Amino acid sequence: MTQDRRAELQRNLDEVNARVDAACAAAHRPRTDVHILAVTKSFPASDIDVLAELGCTDVGENRDQEAREKKEQVKAGLRWHMIGQVQRKKAKQIAGWADLVEAVDRPELADALQLGAQGVEKNLDILMQISLDPIGTQNRGGVDRSQVSALAEHILTLSHLTLTGVMAVAPVGSDPSAAFELLAGAHERLLRVAPQAQMVSAGMSADLEAAIMHGATQVRIGGALLGNRPLLT
Ligand SMILES: *Cc1c(COP(=O)(O)O)cnc(C)c1O
Repeated sequence: MTQDRRAELQRNLDEVNARVDAACAAAHRPRTDVHILAVTKSFPASDIDVLAELGCTDVGENRDQEAREKKEQVKAGLRWHMIGQVQRKKAKQIAGWADLVEAVDRPELADALQLGAQGVEKNLDILMQISLDPIGTQNRGGVDRSQVSALAEHILTLSHLTLTGVMAVAPVGSDPSAAFELLAGAHERLLRVAPQAQMVSAGMSADLEAAIMHGATQVRIGGALLGNRPLLT
């Protein structure tokens, strides 16, 4: 089974890489601009071991307990991203295993992560999640686009957090290109306040091409890499 799974993951990774290559070429961007985050939520630690052997360096998880358990089992040293919504009461635990928290969208959450990071004496990289939904219907999380500078200024005051960039999820059922264009605009405004926040985490299995066209530096790939998720997440 392991050999089969390894071959399957290798094949999927080759396909995703080919899509990223083509998208970078179409966008006239160097291939080295774009990093692939393997979204391993609901898949076993053994898959993460294989992905690490295949050269993946970063994994994304969206549940605190699941991520902690898997990190204990995985042998390779990887960068662990928390990509899901974070409840404030879970911030302390998440600061324990995560290297980067992708969905920070409110000052209270940043404060809780700061406390958690301080407690374990580490620095946490932070992405600000930007809402790409029509104003007032933020069903997928994210800060309102009018609040980007204010939230950035708050995060910049927190000693154990480093604001590294932005993250977004395109709204369901609408044109991802239009959404990622809004993200690019918000990122530009963020850079005026936080010039080091260069990372743009956008694009998933279905819309990575549109995201790369609009400046993504990291695509978050689950299904196209690992197959259909065994559990509903
Ligand atoms: C699950 C998830 C992904 C991966 O989505 P796929 O469509 O499986 O590639 C990316 N980003 C976030 C925030 C997710 O929760």
